[in-house]
Amino acid sequence: MTINPLTPANPTTRLTGCAALLVELDPTSENACAELAAAIRIDPHFAQMVLSLVREEGGAGPATSIEEATLRLGTATVRALAIALDLCVTECRDDAGALRWSRPLAQAFASRAISRQIRVGVPIDAFTLGLVYRFGPETLSAWRMPGQLVQVAAPGASAEAGFDPNEDEAAGLARILGQASLIAEALHGDPAQSSIDWARASSGLDAMREILEIDRPAFQALFERVGQQWSEWHASLGLPMPHVPTLDEVHRRAGEILPDDDVVRALESGSTTPLKGLRILAVDDEPSSLKILERALRKAGHDVITAVNGSDALRLALELHPHAVIADWMMPEMDGIDLCKALRRSELGRSVFFLLLTGRGEEDRIVEAFDAGVDDYVTKPFNAKILLARLKGGQRVIELQERVEANRRVVMKQVAEMGLLTRKLRNAAHTDPLTELPNRRYAMARLEAEWETSHPGGGRPLSAILIDIDHFKKVNDTYGHDVGDLVLKAVAVALRTNTRQGEEAARLGGEEFFVVCANTNEEQALIAGERLRSAIETQVIHGLGFQGSVTISVGVAQRTPDMTNQDALIKASDHAVYAAKAAGRNRVVAFSGIGSLAQSA
Ligand code: GH3
Ligand code: MG
Ligand code: MG
Repeated sequence: MTINPLTPANPTTRLTGCAALLVELDPTSENACAELAAAIRIDPHFAQMVLSLVREEGGAGPATSIEEATLRLGTATVRALAIALDLCVTECRDDAGALRWSRPLAQAFASRAISRQIRVGVPIDAFTLGLVYRFGPETLSAWRMPGQLVQVAAPGASAEAGFDPNEDEAAGLARILGQASLIAEALHGDPAQSSIDWARASSGLDAMREILEIDRPAFQALFERVGQQWSEWHASLGLPMPHVPTLDEVHRRAGEILPDDDVVRALESGSTTPLKGLRILAVDDEPSSLKILERALRKAGHDVITAVNGSDALRLALELHPHAVIADWMMPEMDGIDLCKALRRSELGRSVFFLLLTGRGEEDRIVEAFDAGVDDYVTKPFNAKILLARLKGGQRVIELQERVEANRRVVMKQVAEMGLLTRKLRNAAHTDPLTELPNRRYAMARLEAEWETSHPGGGRPLSAILIDIDHFKKVNDTYGHDVGDLVLKAVAVALRTNTRQGEEAARLGGEEFFVVCANTNEEQALIAGERLRSAIETQVIHGLGFQGSVTISVGVAQRTPDMTNQDALIKASDHAVYAAKAAGRNRVVAFSGIGSLAQSA
């Protein structure tokens, strides 16, 4: 594999054509939507590309024009997409540019797919971010991209983003971007790369599938859909067609890695298997010595990435995870030692093999270099044979480290972390954030499960209680929404503490609650409903300057043989609530009694 000398994202990247127009366009101005559409349509082919991305988003049915899509998605979102895409299309016209955009395209399609899958963020924002996050926050901000995109592009945003149920959009996008990079890495993998790289990709994808709580076939479909879109876009941008691995291929190639026992044996015997080529970052501010170094390393079969100063090197190292860094000591701004120290402070840079090139006369300061975390050094002007020999010394360490990491640390640690995240996610997905009661999704799943095991004819009855707070709107209107929220929480507490075994309370939404009563007939459910009604009526709620109580109307229904599914039971309890409201509120009504109630009224 040849890693193209990735030019670091250039903050002064010049925009041309449509993107240059769009950067000047104020997304909040009155005619923004029309001007945006006009700028995009200057090139009909480009307009077609934009439309193909936005047409399915944000509304019922496909949008038929840029304007329509812009109305649905917002000017800022479409404007950002068009800038990113125009830059990509323009740069892809030359070969070097094309190589640079292949991976971001994979990242973009993967981000969009994940955003859709987990319903976090705006999928098109995720797509745009995947294309351009590497340009960094200053550049995105100069292009006046939406704030959440700028925020995520800041270094470290995606790497550190843990799960937070109250996360804002930027945190959600950061998480998506991090996960999408696993897909992009796997797709972008070269069949000839070492099995270690495949193992990293494979374990990352497994862990990610767990986090997203997607079953295997669905994840496989997602992965392969992204791969297909990625390759289709290579075709339409005229890029060389990539090899698109299937998920099975990723796992199969990862399986070619040595099992643990072999690693230990190799360690003991001191033998090294020939490496297929290290990914090496070479850093030197002198172009001529950098060329010599690069040539020597390539000739020995390594993949070389180059940088001409310490800060570019740091960014590339964190982005591309080289196996080894070979850096000149003396460089302006960030020198080799500072680069090494900075790398050692990051999780990724801690294990990289760092070889320092020293000038004559610097040997007596070499202790300083070792203190900074340098693994070895070679004096300049170097002899290529000696340099490669030193590198070989490092090679064994690198390889074993990589294998152990691939086999143990990555898999174990990631899976452990992911397990925790998955549990948090699962909880969050089933919990109402305001009251912390189970939510509608949970209640429906619970009801469905009870439905399966209940017998309407006898044996194991099933009942449901639907609860609606009386005149709740008045609470909001009189005391404010915050007091309204406080009341909802207090009602939730009363429901939780007054339900018994087999009764599970949930908040359906608004001021409506639901209790699934397993193995309970209507008579028993009426008693439960009355218990809840009187508990709430007598509960004094205070806080935020409010003191008082609320009442509830309660509808009770039992599953009967004529009910074909759960919905019929919910509907029956809903009718009963309605009847309770009609009869004067603050009461419990059974569905079976509604007829007589109507007659007596
Ligand atoms: P009724 O006795 O007929 O049920 O009257 P109501 O006022 O309780 O019923 P209505 O459905 O008219 O009003 C429900 C109100 O609940 C309207 C809505 O603003 C408010 N609401 C819904 N969700 C929340 C919430 O999460 N917090 C707060 N504070 N209010 C909410
Ligand atoms: Mg209501
Ligand atoms: Mg109400």
